[in-house]
Amino acid sequence: MKWSLSLGKVSGIQVYIHWTFLILVGWIVFQNVASGQTTDQILWSVAFLFAIFLCVFLHELGHALAARRYNIKTRDITMLPIGGLARLESIPEDPKQELVVALAGPAVNLVIASLLWLLVTLDPGSAESFDMMTMDSRSFFYTLMVANLILALFNLIPAFPMDGGRVLRALLSFQMPRPKATRIAASIGQFLAIGFVFIGLFYNPFLLLIGFFIFLGAQAESNFTQTRSLLQGYSVEDVLMTRYRTLEPDDKIEKAVDLLLDGQSTAFLVISDGVVRGSLSRQEMIKALANYGKNARVGDVMRTEIRQLSADEPLEKVYTYFQEHRDALLPVVKQGQLIGVLDKENIHEFIMVQNAMGNAGNGLPYLSRNNGTSKQTTV
Ligand SMILES: [Zn+2]
Repeated sequence: MKWSLSLGKVSGIQVYIHWTFLILVGWIVFQNVASGQTTDQILWSVAFLFAIFLCVFLHELGHALAARRYNIKTRDITMLPIGGLARLESIPEDPKQELVVALAGPAVNLVIASLLWLLVTLDPGSAESFDMMTMDSRSFFYTLMVANLILALFNLIPAFPMDGGRVLRALLSFQMPRPKATRIAASIGQFLAIGFVFIGLFYNPFLLLIGFFIFLGAQAESNFTQTRSLLQGYSVEDVLMTRYRTLEPDDKIEKAVDLLLDGQSTAFLVISDGVVRGSLSRQEMIKALANYGKNARVGDVMRTEIRQLSADEPLEKVYTYFQEHRDALLPVVKQGQLIGVLDKENIHEFIMVQNAMGNAGNGLPYLSRNNGTSKQTTV
């Protein structure tokens, strides 16, 4: 994520903190000074903020470690002022697994709250000095315990894609197809998000922000799941382009630009002696043109690390790959032979066609699914 500071690695997972978190620290200090708190109280408040920060981080780590049990890696964890964000490489499609991963976060906060409860009961006075607004050494742990309970409960509100919403989707998925379960969970999530925004407008700006994130997040994830379901059962071979134009490493950028202007393709494979050497996208072409002029060699500016697709690879997996990587075009091989190319645009056109056929009411997809290659992708 942009504007993030690396805090190092925990359990092999990169941890970032977003710079806006500093604004939150500043805001807390400002509020405390403005309300006439002593230096001691201000220090306790800042310490409390960092303690909460740590609890939120452990919540995210809970998700990440639960996902690891199912061989799902976590790309990174970013701490934002409105909470943490663990970016899992994928969400488990098995409802039982999704349930475990979603519950792992709030469970961590419940465990912390229980431990703090034990600590607090040793000091009965701390409950009496409980006050969210002024903080001191006595109320610190009690308030932290309450905060962890709130964290657990708030995250369990069934507002997809919050944890509670994922729990809801997983539970619905036991009864119905996942795309339908996602649609229902996302609708409930968006309804609640509007509520958050409304309450946030009057009481709490953070709730307003969270509401916006939930609304957009629910939409994006619902679309993503619907789209993937349209692709399920198809493989790369069903949509690849077999007629395409290529470049050679010794060609000049000038030639690449001619090809770009001459046809529909926006990216090209670079081939010599029948071997794929790299690829060149429109963006890379324009950049090379600006930096080195039209006589630059294609071989010097092309992308050399490219992934090869095999013809029988599930289309939904490749769709996810294109969402997450910047590759514009990938070669497709079958038994060691180059048989075509595939780009994002191919998949988008395929999705549009499938959608149109679905909407036409006959319910028949344009291409029949080849059941032999259909596999659930749990990447
Ligand atoms: Zn969570």
